[in-house]
Amino acid sequence: MVKNYINGELLEPLSGEYFDNYDPSVAKAYGIVPDSDERDVDMAAQAANNAFKEWSQIPAEERSGYFFKIISLMQRDFNELARAECVDNGKPFSLAKSVDIPRAIRNLEFFASIIQGFESQSHHTKEALNYTLRSPLGVVGAISPWNLPLYLFTWKIAPALISGNCVIAKPSELTPMTAYLFSELCIEAGLPKGVLNVIHGYGSKAGRAIVNHPDVKAITFTGGTKTGREIASSASGTFKKLSLELGGKNPVIVFHDCDYEKMLATTLLSSFRNQGEICLCGSRIFVHKDIYEKFKKDFTENTKKLKVGDPLEPDTDQGAIVSKEHMEKILSYIELAEKDGGRILCGGKRFTPEGRCREGWFVEPTVIEGLPYDCKVNQEEIFGPVVTLIPFETEEEVLNMANSTDYGLASVIWTENLSRAHRVASQIQSGIVWVNCWMIRDLRTPFGGVKSSGIGREGGYEAIRFFTEAKNICIKI
Ligand code: NDP
Repeated sequence: MVKNYINGELLEPLSGEYFDNYDPSVAKAYGIVPDSDERDVDMAAQAANNAFKEWSQIPAEERSGYFFKIISLMQRDFNELARAECVDNGKPFSLAKSVDIPRAIRNLEFFASIIQGFESQSHHTKEALNYTLRSPLGVVGAISPWNLPLYLFTWKIAPALISGNCVIAKPSELTPMTAYLFSELCIEAGLPKGVLNVIHGYGSKAGRAIVNHPDVKAITFTGGTKTGREIASSASGTFKKLSLELGGKNPVIVFHDCDYEKMLATTLLSSFRNQGEICLCGSRIFVHKDIYEKFKKDFTENTKKLKVGDPLEPDTDQGAIVSKEHMEKILSYIELAEKDGGRILCGGKRFTPEGRCREGWFVEPTVIEGLPYDCKVNQEEIFGPVVTLIPFETEEEVLNMANSTDYGLASVIWTENLSRAHRVASQIQSGIVWVNCWMIRDLRTPFGGVKSSGIGREGGYEAIRFFTEAKNICIKI
């Protein structure tokens, strides 16, 4: 049973109500989650406000010390955390072990380390010395999605806490388990009461209550664009600080002069890793007409070789889709693609594995061609194992198609021509551009999207600046 973590204690929701938590690989409920409401959020806000006075005053080294205690407990429980992520989300256990949990640990290590080097500015004239004092905001809200549950949860709470804020966090209702286990580790590590509070429940109830709480000074949110828009409009009247990391419809642009084998192997990952449920996955693959037919054949053959099935099996490449509802959404886009004249080159259906996962929610890795770049399937986020192939001839043409969506999160360019790489990278509308690679993440770099993919940047000192307020102090000399 998952419980809320409020004021250092694991508590049942005040409503006494719970809902089911599913293992998507077998389509069965395996636990229950608190259906929290504004009363639980209010308790958390009081606890966080009380804790803030002390937490904001202790030296950053001391805050880092708590992080390192939690890290050692996460390392001790590494397999348990990875397994919990796999069962809750449906992702392969091997992926949770190689990406999710190591990265969650790295998020804490990274912010515990960089805070030591965080500096503020000073401006000196004959008349006066100005310096900038950066102070934590107070109580902040952190709302995270289901695709990379502990990875994105820690990516938000770590910079908030290390800069002296107290946090009310809400993980996705679909994947609450690792955040719950994390709260147990915080208790064991002796994290002071009220510094971190974790509220479980529906976004429309518990999430909304966090966003609307008057004591919450800032919201860091990762999730869908529709939810981001709703949060932005409710927060606008209260002038809360907002960092919104939203959806994407990322283009992968393959020029004929690329390193073909490297591109082919990486494009398979950028299409289907984590069931295509990574906001950075490339979903529209634009291929130069000179290599289009070859790419289509090779990519489709390689996609057919991906092993879909039981996430606990060590050789599984693609696990289950997080929920029945999300699986149906993905399948509806495939249906729409067919209606709009798209040709399914491979996949296209629900997948039924043999054995213990036969009832689970799986979708075959799907490759589609023949759709216009501006149709719904090529404009809206599907967030599943579905990619489209689109041929192009000139740079101008591909840039026009790549930039045609409302989104602008990430993009990938494959070319060995350095001038072309710079030229296209500067013109593409996205917050992140990978050239001849994908998902290389240096945590010091600014992370975020343009257009409907979000506002603000996470990562490195950008995150520390978001969670602190600048004050100019001017001293007459
Ligand atoms: P949602 O927007 O549905 O939910 C995200 C979080 O917000 C969940 O915790 C959800 O709770 C909560 N929530 C929902 N409604 C509200 C509300 N009205 N007020 C406050 N909180 C609310 O996104 P998903 O969980 O479906 O995640 C997938 C989306 O996340 C995709 O669009 C993907 O592109 C995006 N994403 C973006 C990333 C980026 O860095 N830009 C990274 C990863 C994902 P609950 O689940 O309980 O409803």
